[in-house]
Amino acid sequence: MFQTEYAQRVFEAQEARTPWEKEFLQAVREVLLSIEPAVRENPAIEQHAILERMVEPDRQIRFRVAWVDDAGRIQVNRGYRFEFNNAIGPYKGGLRFHSTVNASILKFLGFEQVFKNSLTGLWMGGGKGGSDFDTHGKSDGEVMRFCQAFMSELYRHIGPNTDIPAGDIGVGGREVGYLFGQYRRLANEFTGVFTGKGLDFGGSLARTEATGYGLCYYTQEVLRVLKDDSFEGKTVSVSGSGNVSIFAAEKAIALGGKVVVMSDSSGYIHDPNGIDLDEVKDIKLRRRARISEYTTTHPSAQFVAGKKVWEVPCQIALPCATQNEITAEDARQLIANGVVIVAEGANMPTTPDAIEAFRAAQVVFCPGKASNAGGVAVSGLEMAQDSMRVAWTFEEVDTRLQTIMKKIVGDSLAAASRYGLGPDLFNGANIAGFERVAGAMIDQGVF
Ligand code: NDP
Repeated sequence: MFQTEYAQRVFEAQEARTPWEKEFLQAVREVLLSIEPAVRENPAIEQHAILERMVEPDRQIRFRVAWVDDAGRIQVNRGYRFEFNNAIGPYKGGLRFHSTVNASILKFLGFEQVFKNSLTGLWMGGGKGGSDFDTHGKSDGEVMRFCQAFMSELYRHIGPNTDIPAGDIGVGGREVGYLFGQYRRLANEFTGVFTGKGLDFGGSLARTEATGYGLCYYTQEVLRVLKDDSFEGKTVSVSGSGNVSIFAAEKAIALGGKVVVMSDSSGYIHDPNGIDLDEVKDIKLRRRARISEYTTTHPSAQFVAGKKVWEVPCQIALPCATQNEITAEDARQLIANGVVIVAEGANMPTTPDAIEAFRAAQVVFCPGKASNAGGVAVSGLEMAQDSMRVAWTFEEVDTRLQTIMKKIVGDSLAAASRYGLGPDLFNGANIAGFERVAGAMIDQGVF
C-alpha cells in the first residue's frame, strides 16, 4: 500500500492510462513504493512533478520491420525504442529480440534502466528497445537481414551522443555486429553508437563478461559487508545459460562457489559434481544448442525438462534468465532449502510476493537494478574508450568494474540508512538511483 497520496495518485493515473501494461505497472509500483521515504521528506519532488515526468518516457518510437526469409517470403515484425530519460546522460540501454517482446516489457526495462544507469555513477540516461523477432531457428543470413532492416529505421533516432543501444536477450555479439555494421553504412560514420561491439571495431575488453562478473562482485561485497562471508564453499544456483548466466557462473566458481544447476527455456541440468562450464559454453555459445545436450558428455548429470532450477537446494541463488522467473512458491522452496542470498542477474526475475517472502525470511535480497548494473557500467566504459580512441586492458576495465559494483553497494546502504531503513539494499538502490536523476531534473528546469 502506498503511504503518500502523491505516489498513489501518480500510480493510479498511470494504471488508468495503460491498464494492460502489466510488467511496466509492476516496475512503476515497485519503484514508487520504494522511494516514498525520499518523496515524503523532499517536497520539491512533488512541486516539480518529478514522478509524473519519470513514469512517462521522453519518446516512444515504434516501427515496422520488413525482411526477407531464406525461402524468399517477406516477414513483418515490430520494432521499438523507448527513450525514457536523458537527464543525466544520453539514452542508454539494450535491445531485446524475443517473441514475447511488447511495449509493456520494453517500457518496464527502460524505466528500470534509468535508475540502474544512475547507480553506476556514470553519465548515462535510460532507454530500451527491441523486437518480437525470435532468433531461435533462424539462419545467420536471416538474422543479418532482420538486423539490417531493423537498423534501417532505428539509425535515424540514435547516435553516440543521443542514444546508444546494446545487447540483451536474443542480441549477442553476432546481432550487435550486424546492427552496428548497418548503422555505420547508413550514417557514414564510425562512432561508439553501440556497446558490446567486437574487439576489432570499438568494443571493450570485459564487456562480454561484465554483467555476470559484476553480479558476483556485487554479491561478494554484500556477503562481506552484511554477513562477513564469501562465495567460498557455497552451493550456487544459476538460472539461464546465456550471456549473463555463463559469466556469473564463471566468476562464482572462480570465487570458490560450486555451481550445480543451469537452465534454458526447455528445463535445467543438475550436476552435483559442479557444472562443467566449458561444456555449457560449447553448447550455448558455439553450437547454439539445447542445454539438455550436457548429459550426453556428462552422464552423471541429470536433465529435468520443463522445471525451474529453484527446486534444487542452494545457498546462493543467481536468477539470470528472464523476468518473473522466481514466484512466491519458488521463493518458499528456496527458503525451506536454506538459501542465504538471492542476487538478481536478470531484470526483475523475482515477483513482488517472492521478494516479500525473502525479506520476511531475512534472506538477503539484491535487486537487479543494482546487482546487474555491471553490464551497463562497462558499456559506459566502452563509450569512454570509443570517445578517446583508446583501448584499456582487461585488468583495467575489470578493476573499474569492481570499484563501481562496490560503490553501488555502499551508496545503496548509505541511502537506506539516511532514511532509517537499516541495511535495505532494495529500497536503498531505488532511492540512490532516483535521487540523482530527480536532482538533475530539478536543476535543469521543466522538460
Ligand atoms: P541471453 O539471450 O544471452 O540468455 C537468456 C537465457 O535465459 C537463455 O538461457 C534463455 O534460454 C533463457 N530464457 C529466456 N527467456 C526465458 C523464459 N521465458 N523462460 C526460461 N528461460 C528463458 O540473454 P542475457 O543473458 O543477455 O540476459 C538475461 C537477463 O539479464 C535478461 O533479463 C536481461 O534483461 C538481463 N540483463 C542482461 C544484461 C547483458 O549485459 N546482457 C545486462 C543487464 C541485465 P533459451 O536459450 O532457451 O532461450
